[in-house]
Order: sequence, then structure tokens, then C-alpha cells
Amino acid sequence: MNIVWFKKDLRISDHAPLKAAIENGESFLMLYVWEPTIMSDPHYSPRHWNFVQQSLDNLNGQLSAGNGLLSITILEGEAEAIFAAIHQKYQLKQVFSYEETGLKITYDRDKVLSKYFKENNIEWREFQTNGVVRKLKNRENWSELWKTQMYQKLDNPDWTKLRNPCLIFDNGNEIYKQFPSQNHQPIIDKENKPIFQPGGETYAHRYLLSFLNDRAKNYSKTISKPLEARKSCSRLSPYITWGNLSIRQVYQYTQNAKRRVSYRRDLENFASRLHWHCHFIQKFEMEDRIEFENINRGYDELQKTENQYFITQWQAGKTGYPLVDACMRCVCETGYLNFRMRAMVVSFLTHQLFQHWKDGALFLAQQFLDFEPGIHYPQFQMQAGVTGMNTVRMYNPVKQSQDHDPHGVFIKTWVKELENCPENFIHEPWKMTQMEQDLYNFRLGENYPFPIIDLEQTTKFAKDNLWGIRKNIEVKAESKRILSKHVVHRKKKK
Ligand SMILES: Cc1cc2nc3c(=O)[nH]c(=O)nc-3n(C[C@H](O)[C@H](O)[C@H](O)COP(=O)(O)OP(=O)(O)OC[C@H]3O[C@@H](n4cnc5c(N)ncnc54)[C@H](O)[C@@H]3O)c2cc1C
Repeated sequence: MNIVWFKKDLRISDHAPLKAAIENGESFLMLYVWEPTIMSDPHYSPRHWNFVQQSLDNLNGQLSAGNGLLSITILEGEAEAIFAAIHQKYQLKQVFSYEETGLKITYDRDKVLSKYFKENNIEWREFQTNGVVRKLKNRENWSELWKTQMYQKLDNPDWTKLRNPCLIFDNGNEIYKQFPSQNHQPIIDKENKPIFQPGGETYAHRYLLSFLNDRAKNYSKTISKPLEARKSCSRLSPYITWGNLSIRQVYQYTQNAKRRVSYRRDLENFASRLHWHCHFIQKFEMEDRIEFENINRGYDELQKTENQYFITQWQAGKTGYPLVDACMRCVCETGYLNFRMRAMVVSFLTHQLFQHWKDGALFLAQQFLDFEPGIHYPQFQMQAGVTGMNTVRMYNPVKQSQDHDPHGVFIKTWVKELENCPENFIHEPWKMTQMEQDLYNFRLGENYPFPIIDLEQTTKFAKDNLWGIRKNIEVKAESKRILSKHVVHRKKKK
């Protein structure tokens, strides 16, 4: 028998492995594995597994609606043990799956599996995920490859070609008994409502259509605004991360929408982000050590002393800087933050609080419902200014607040202590005099913390440190190396 192994591709449309397994003609099992090693990895939290559970429920719902005899078998255990048990009993011939550009733990798992499959004459047919190409040495033709991939016909499985019934392991099956799986129930609020974006292909398409048909009209104007972006950005990131949608599907729908709407420019800006998505993951695919190390080794010299108090206050949204605090509380509660605010909280941690990017990367991975290692780590390092080739942006949280939340509506939503703070102090409550504090019945240091650092001093300190190191020979040599590996050279592009 054969297996279609679902991982971060929880959909049935545009699914190359599924299409190939059907066309192959032999019986196959559709399999998802809850892997304890991955589930207990500190990057993940229950919100992620809950999203996966909803996606699986949705898949099974769709499969049984189309044909009552179809469903995905869900087992719990280490992948190698499960494949070995299945092989022993059923003689596996082929495994169909997508390639995964993930954390070191999934890479290690894949190496073990690859060895096992080879030793047992099982063919592992892996398919390219989105625009990310395996075994590339540099980026010379990458953009062209990306475009070609985006315009290819969708790999929608043709169920009419199914010649043998799909296999299902139910409670009576021996393998199922050996590796039974538990349900990961939705996380709900006090009123029984789900807190996070719901997982599944059906919701993914709803988000996609509502964005393209309406919400996108304010995309470019409000992309940096923490409140408005929640509506006018696509919010597709968790659906793309967990594979409820392929990038190609999103791209093709967007190209079609561009022909009928007046906000074409907004859709063009959006489509360029789809390219970035694959660009960043490609970087990680080609240099996965950046999960642990600075991409530019020259920055290893940058000495930062861990300050647990700073880290705890940042995590809890109690830094005394209202917009930083609102963002941190919001992402912990909802799993989402727009790009600019993600960049700002990381800039605050790594520059003004002068902490290592590693001190925030795990924590935010647990919070982001869309956690994608290949975007997360390169972005973290870029915002921390350790790439040596991007302009270092040190965001001033007060200016960001004045520009993007001028009336403090977002701040007041998430920092309830500031609910009664007048608008003219909302960005800098520490500027209130004692008399003003009495007037508004507000006590700095009691109701809301004093700023934990001096913005001006710490920004200057960070700039001096980063700028100083940037001139080092190793930083320059590394920048050159990074450019030639991860960026298309202008001349070559011509
Ligand atoms: C420190 C940091 C960490 C991040 N970690 C993640 C992560 O783990 N997972 C993740 O999907 N995004 C991450 N991003 C990128 C970006 O913030 C999110 O993709 C975006 O906010 C998701 O919202 P959206 O789907 O509404 O985006 P839209 O603006 O609607 O964009 C559509 C899609 O394009 C892609 N995209 C958008 N912006 C970027 C970007 N800057 N880089 C790469 N791809 C992009 C995403 O797949 C997104 O869903 C991170 C950014 C920063 C600064």
C-alpha cells in the first residue's frame, strides 16, 4: 500500500501528493501524525495544535461530504515508529508528501525517515512546497522559478480517477490501537467563543475571498496600523503556514481579482508579499543554522547581557511604553499582530532593551498562530540588525504610536489601565504631572508602570554598538557572502 502523508499542507485542493497518489492507481492511506517530539518543542503552544485539529476536522468533513468512504487517519506517535509499524504489517511501497522547510527537529526527523525508507525500499516522493526550491546554491534564477510555479495549473486531485478504495484505520485496526490519537479541543473564551482564527480550508477560502472582494481596498493605506490592519490585511498567514491554502492558489485568485476591482495597486502590494513569503523561507532552506546563530557571524562579537526583568516585562506587556505593551498583550491574546508592530516589538527588545534576539524568538513563536520558522528567524535577525546588509531600523515606539494609533484606540483596547488616560498623554503617560494624575485619578507606578528604560539613551547606546561592529572586517566579509548566496546580483539579473 501507499501513504499520502499530510503535514503542513492541510488541504485537499491544489495538493500535488494527493493528486499523484490518486493517479498512481494503487490503494493508499491518507495519514496525519501527531508527533510528540514536535508537539512538545518550545516553539509551539496549544493554539497551534488546536488550529491543526480544526483543519483536520474540516478536511474530514469535506472528504466525507464528497464521498462517505474517505477520511484521513490520524495517529499519535513518532513518525518513524508509525511508518515502521505500518510497513511491517502492510508492506509500504510509496510515501507521497510535500517537502518541509522547518525547524531542526523536523529536518532531523526527515533524515531518519529518509534512511529508513531507503533501507526498506520504500519510495518517498516529495513535492516542492510553494516557491521554495531544494538544493539551490544561489538565487540566480529563483525569481523566474517562483513565477513559473505561481502560474502552473493547480494540482487539484481528480477523485473520479480513484481506482481502488482509500484505506482508513479505524478503532478496530491494530495500528490504530497501537498509536491512538487524542483530540485537541478548541481554546474558547468565557463566552464559549473561539479566541483564535479558526483553522481549515473552508475558513481559509472565506478569508481569501472577503479580502480580495472587499477588505483589500484599504490594504496599502492601513498595513502598518495595529487596529485597522487586523481587518484590511488578508489575515491569511495561519492558513498559509499550515497549508490550508497554497501560495499558488492565493496568487492566482489575486491575479483574477485584479481584473475586476478598482484597488489593483493594493492587490499588487499584497502579491509582492507572497513572493517575500517564499523568499524568506528559501533563505532558511539554504541556511538553516540561523535558527540558532546570527546569519552574519561577524555579529557574534556583539555582547548583550541577559536581563530577565526586561524580558519578563516585555513578554507581559509591562514596559511602560503603551504601544509596545498593547501589542504584546494583543498578540498573546489573539495570536496576531501586523508586520510593522511585530517589527517594532522585536526592535524594542533587541535595541532599546538590548537583549539577544533568541530571548524573544521562542516566546513570539508560541504566540504567533502563523509561526513559520523560515519567515520568523530571518525576520527576527533582520529586525535585530544582525544581517549586516539590511538598513537597521530602530523604531521609536512613541512615534509609531503617534503615527499609527493617534487616538490610542488600539492601546486602550489592550491596556485597560490606560482606559481613562486622556488622548494627549496616551503615547507618553509619564509626562503627566502629579496634578494631572490626581485629576484623572491615575497613579503612574501603581496603575501603569514607569518606562523601564530611557528611550533616547538606550537607542543611542544600541546605535553606537551596532554601527561600530558594522565596520568590522568579518561583518563585511559575511555580508558579501550573504549577498552572493541569498540575493540576486543586479548585473546577473540584467
Ligand atoms: C519579527 C517578525 C516575525 C515574523 N514571523 C512570521 C511568522 O512566523 N509567520 C508568518 O507568516 N509571518 C511572519 N512575519 C511576517 C509578517 O508579519 C506576517 O506574515 C503578516 O503580518 C501576516 O499577516 P497577513 O497574513 O494579514 O499579511 P498580508 O500583509 O496580508 O500578507 C499576505 C501574506 O504574505 C506573507 N507575508 C507578509 N508579510 C511578509 C513578510 N514581511 N515576510 C514574509 N512573508 C510575508 C505572509 O504569508 C502573509 O500571510 C514576521 C514578521 C516579523 C517582523
